[in-house]
Amino acid sequence: MQISYSKNEEKFRDKVRLWLKENVSDEIKDQTLGGSSLDTELMVKWHKKLYQKGWVAPEIDKKWGGSGFSQTENFIFGYEYARSGAPRLKTKLIAIGMLTPLLLQFGTKEQQERFIPDMISGEIQWAQGYSEPDAGSDLANLSTEAVLDGDDFIVNGQKIWTSMADYAHWMFMLVRTDTSGKKQQGISFLLVDLKSPGITIRPTEALTDHEPFCEVFFDNVRVPKENLVGKINEGWNIAKVLLEHERLNAFPVGEVIAALEIVVKNAEKINFRGKPLLEDPVFRRKLAVLDVDCKAFLYTFFRILSKLQSGSAPGPETSFLKAYGAELYQRVMDLSIEVMGPYGQSWYNLKEYGNPVHQATMGWVNARSLTIWGGASEIQRTIIATQVLKLPRK
Ligand SMILES: Cc1cc2nc3c(=O)[nH]c(=O)nc-3n(C[C@H](O)[C@H](O)[C@H](O)COP(=O)(O)OP(=O)(O)OC[C@H]3O[C@@H](n4cnc5c(N)ncnc54)[C@H](O)[C@@H]3O)c2cc1C
Repeated sequence: MQISYSKNEEKFRDKVRLWLKENVSDEIKDQTLGGSSLDTELMVKWHKKLYQKGWVAPEIDKKWGGSGFSQTENFIFGYEYARSGAPRLKTKLIAIGMLTPLLLQFGTKEQQERFIPDMISGEIQWAQGYSEPDAGSDLANLSTEAVLDGDDFIVNGQKIWTSMADYAHWMFMLVRTDTSGKKQQGISFLLVDLKSPGITIRPTEALTDHEPFCEVFFDNVRVPKENLVGKINEGWNIAKVLLEHERLNAFPVGEVIAALEIVVKNAEKINFRGKPLLEDPVFRRKLAVLDVDCKAFLYTFFRILSKLQSGSAPGPETSFLKAYGAELYQRVMDLSIEVMGPYGQSWYNLKEYGNPVHQATMGWVNARSLTIWGGASEIQRTIIATQVLKLPRK
């Protein structure tokens, strides 16, 4: 099998590569950790810069402020983007990667026109209110309730691990609107202005010393009923489609390959028993295993890409990308730290070794979260077993 780009696609790749080289500053690279950006203000600034270039939403139609790239151009862009050291933007993943396609599929014309352009330009930031203290892996167990009162829903309850809630202007959330049937049946999907009276937001510190997520409390919060997406009590299907988009966009394949390329570069520089580490057979064996696994991941990604090109929805197969991509990235990070020897203990970035992002301990710690957010790996495996391989539940 020969996989290569056409001449035009190569030209496109070179143009993207050059622009990123000239625009991804050291300041941005230094704030990128385990692929994500830690400084929210810098992240928003970079989002706006990409928007001005017309490249913040490669997969979305130009009509909405997206780039209107083909699936292949989108892949090339994502690959070059990850290799440039630019951060995976939470602002983009939540608003453009998840909510925009969802509103295009299930939202009213008014909702699309009101929300999508500002999401793409980065003027309005969004948070995702799914998880609750008793509803993580078992998401349908959620209990934050919304009761219809005239033209408003009244919302009471609590969300947890809500990324960016302290910075975002709006949040999409799942609420319980009926308790009479199966727990999946009484769920609805709401869009909520985070400045509404009755909302309290409390940031939570993570192992990396940063506060990437928050607890959000709702005390008799009024939400206009035109902010309901889809029909009342039919939010579970919408929620699942959104998760497929999250999993599709969660793990840019280029990021894993770029991280492995950095491991190789560093192994050329590190001296081991009088030779570059890269020449050590034990090390080469570990590298070869990861290299083959990265290629397998890349071709799996191509397979799902072909499905999208034929107009299908992402589907439960995206759970492969999420589970395998996250675990592969963690394995690359393990080898990265090993290569660095004593330098691998550094908590902060080390500039002298390539793109410093991937080897500092803080980056390694941050990568632990990849197998939790967007649905833990165990849950992805259950989806693969039951929905893709059609195995019995017991
Ligand atoms: C960095 C980060 C950012 C996040 N951002 C957001 C956000 O913006 N919005 C949001 O809504 N949520 C967010 N989350 C929450 C995330 O979606 C949940 O943490 C995740 O779904 C797991 O839920 P939980 O933490 O309640 O763990 P639990 O569901 O309690 O799971 C604990 C462990 O038990 C395992 N387990 C649970 N049930 C099963 C089962 N049936 N079979 C096998 N194993 C099982 C899990 O795999 C896991 O290992 C974020 C999490 C992280 C780490």
